[in-house]
Amino acid sequence: MRHGYDRLMNPDYHHSRPGDDQHFCSRCAEKIEHIIPAGDSRLRTVCPACRTIHYRNPVIVAGAIPVWEDRVLLCKRGIEPRYGKWTLPAGFMELKESTEQAAVRETLEESGAAVTLEGAFSIISIPYVDQVHLFYRARMHNLDFGPREESLAVELFREDQIPWDELSFRTVITTLELYFADRRKGSFGFHSQALTLPAKA
Ligand SMILES: [Zn+2]
Repeated sequence: MRHGYDRLMNPDYHHSRPGDDQHFCSRCAEKIEHIIPAGDSRLRTVCPACRTIHYRNPVIVAGAIPVWEDRVLLCKRGIEPRYGKWTLPAGFMELKESTEQAAVRETLEESGAAVTLEGAFSIISIPYVDQVHLFYRARMHNLDFGPREESLAVELFREDQIPWDELSFRTVITTLELYFADRRKGSFGFHSQALTLPAKA
């Protein structure tokens, strides 16, 4: 997972509305404005000089549930936030990449594990951070894995070993809960959900 992902994922961080953190036009460097363009219904980031409308849209995070026999591979985060917490390998899609390619690439980059995807498993919208997370079930090719740059450790866990209180993100917790529930039933579905912002304590 990249640093930008962490910033966006962490609900404790500032939630920017589209264009809130942009002050200058990325095309001509003029100071931009926030207006509702003619024919539109939403506030956009617009450059008064070159007339560019800087649209912003949700980003997609793709990841995997790497499995070896009855165990699932998790990575212990070596970066803030959630330093030391466990996560499924996942990260932002790159340009010119498919969601499948992104899931396989992120798994290799974060855990060293080579996987073959076995089907899309969960798609979780997080409207309050403008992200969509998509996880695939994945079969590990072998036991060749280990920590990479952004991980402190990479380990296989049976269901009764999953460190539920030490998981990093809500989409990871939700996906693992759904995964083990389906596995107990003996068939895997495809799950579509949307998270809402937790009520402030
Ligand atoms: Zn401009």
